[in-house]
Amino acid sequence: MKCWICGGEEAATREHMSKASDLRSLFGRPTQRDPLYFHTDRRCNRRVGSLKSDVLKFDHQICLTCNSARTQPHDLAWEHISGWLRERSPQPGRWFRCNRVFPYDTRRGMRNVHLYFVKAFGCLVVEGGIALDISEFSEAILKGRPHPNLYLRFGRSPDMPVVVAGGSDVHADLVDGKVAVASWLYQVGALTVNVIYAADGEHRQGMEQAWHPKFGAKRLSYAAF
Ligand SMILES: [Zn+2]
Repeated sequence: MKCWICGGEEAATREHMSKASDLRSLFGRPTQRDPLYFHTDRRCNRRVGSLKSDVLKFDHQICLTCNSARTQPHDLAWEHISGWLRERSPQPGRWFRCNRVFPYDTRRGMRNVHLYFVKAFGCLVVEGGIALDISEFSEAILKGRPHPNLYLRFGRSPDMPVVVAGGSDVHADLVDGKVAVASWLYQVGALTVNVIYAADGEHRQGMEQAWHPKFGAKRLSYAAF
């Protein structure tokens, strides 16, 4: 199998659908006796006895270099903002300052968060056969540049009786056979990130709260999902 990021032939590692760091901070370390439950649109409450379980990973493989060295700064940036937002839990409908999250080189920190979701969403595009040009995703990661059409919307989900983690399917709207907007929800406890692909010129409901690195990294809306 080819690595969709660098085109290398030895794609032998699988990216976590939910970051292991998110799951560890929510649930501790699951065991066969004390498992965690993971949900997607298709499968609810899949029993997971280890953070290394294949249930938690994308089906498509990427190479070791891309999964570790190349994207590690992106993974770490996400791990950081994910922990920060869950700990501070901003009021939904308000906003938070990015330089509180990343006091040093705020723009780079936020760009790395964006690039983390370029990787995660790219894995879903490849896996789901979604009609988007994957080369735009790989180019963003290889060059460390934002994907021009990928936006993030951060917010809080309604309180649930149990702690949940997981992701929705990607829901895509086609116009003339082309993807106009595609949307994916990633949830870790009360924190939800809505990853939105919007083709040039597309403005849909919810987009006014969505963030892209081109808007700068000053303050971000925290939506009520
Ligand atoms: Zn690779």
